[in-house]
Amino acid sequence: MRLSDLGEFGFLRELERRGLVQRIQNDAAQFAPDLVVTQDALVEGVHFRLDWTSWHDLGYKAAAVNISDLAASGAEPEALIVSLGLPGESEADDVIALYEGIAETGVPVLGGDTTSAERLYLSVTALGRAERVPGRDGARAGDLLVVTGPLGASAAGFYCLQERLTNPCAREHLRPPLRVAEGKELAQSAHAMLDISDGLASDALRIAERSGCRLVIELERVPVAAGVAKVAAHIKQDVYALACAFGEDYELLAAVPEPGRFSVIGRCEEGEGVVFLRDGEPVEFSGWDHFRD
Ligand SMILES: [Mg+2]
Repeated sequence: MRLSDLGEFGFLRELERRGLVQRIQNDAAQFAPDLVVTQDALVEGVHFRLDWTSWHDLGYKAAAVNISDLAASGAEPEALIVSLGLPGESEADDVIALYEGIAETGVPVLGGDTTSAERLYLSVTALGRAERVPGRDGARAGDLLVVTGPLGASAAGFYCLQERLTNPCAREHLRPPLRVAEGKELAQSAHAMLDISDGLASDALRIAERSGCRLVIELERVPVAAGVAKVAAHIKQDVYALACAFGEDYELLAAVPEPGRFSVIGRCEEGEGVVFLRDGEPVEFSGWDHFRD
């Protein structure tokens, strides 16, 4: 069977079933009571294109997506380890700009590796400390669902970059937010939390599956980023398809007993799966899955 038939989730489930990986359900691996580590790789042509992305922004994004997984774990980032593969003819100034982008996140690089490769490959490992890691399996009926910020800007930005449209969303696609403070605050009481990397629809389903409950999301309550509606109209897409089914917003989604200062978008109920409601009626969305076409 090919990876593209299994899909990313299916492949990970198969590794888990065979006992070859363990405790992989969360955003970051917890290997001591308070230590968490996460790693994300970016590959040219799959995760980024150098004709859209500056080397500086690429460095920032590679660090930011890892810091986002620590934020989803309620952790304070303490160090980054950076592995880089790239062609020998790459300009040294470009690679320095990439490291300057990483440095802009404020988390120090304490090691890594560089190697020759046919196309640019960048893997960042982020290490941090958390007082309490909510994980994904503790959501329960009665919890409220909150997000830390508006969604859809990254999707709209992607289309703007692709179509060479001028829109502030383009920058949002290249510069994900760092929600470390929000993550630490939510982690104090959240029953489940993750960062929205693959789309609200896909990521909500992960909480539903791991927690054994149903997540009900009311579209009217989902905060949509400025500029998204204009892009959606331009490309004849539903604004909520951009906000819920694309991903890379890197806001946090949490199931909490009390919402505090965060936007409530729905609730947890007895049952399974994710239900999106528009005007009280269910609607369908799907998310992004690596390995699938
Ligand atoms: Mg994540």
